[in-house]
Amino acid sequence: MAADTDIDDWLASEGILDAPSRVEARVVLAAAGLTRAGKQRIATHKLDRAREALWAGITPVCANPACLTAAGIPAKLIVRTGRDRCSVCAGSNTRRAGREMVEACAKSGLERILLLGGSGNAHAELRALTAGTPIEWRIIDGRNDRPTKRQALPDLAWAQLLVVWASTELPHRVSQVYTEDRPAGPPLITVARRGVEALCTAVVQFASGSARSNG
Ligand SMILES: [Zn+2]
Repeated sequence: MAADTDIDDWLASEGILDAPSRVEARVVLAAAGLTRAGKQRIATHKLDRAREALWAGITPVCANPACLTAAGIPAKLIVRTGRDRCSVCAGSNTRRAGREMVEACAKSGLERILLLGGSGNAHAELRALTAGTPIEWRIIDGRNDRPTKRQALPDLAWAQLLVVWASTELPHRVSQVYTEDRPAGPPLITVARRGVEALCTAVVQFASGSARSNG
């Protein structure tokens, strides 16, 4: 007799967490011809194909309401999974915040952000989160860059938003060059909290507000 596996146990081991989601997952498996209604077990040799069909046919989302919102109304079935399987956050709040930022910026047409402060790691993370999107950064590193007013002017003319990351290493004489005497400069927001998630969230708040005020 060929080895077989309980379908619900296998779905749970794949990270499909609740009963309604397992029902949805079974619909996907049935559509792929790998099971049919009422079957409880599946031949073990079919599991590789089942795994492929399953993850190609669903949108996995974790229990966080923000992830469900961010997933929107996708073409594929939404299935509840653990955080590490979540298609929105993949277990990372930073990743989710980055995704929200990209969406909020796209809606409000915000593409050019001038950032003062933050660590090299944070800058790399921000660039990675927005890679392949319309968002461009000009970043002034508070530890290394010593810009002059003359250097700051084209940055200010370019930017649609100036973000001062106040909780990071950012000498006053650096931020001053950008924040003082700004004739018709871009809008300015100050982010008091550390962490890329906090920065992304602040940009989302700004972009959502400006999207509303633009109608
Ligand atoms: Zn999630």
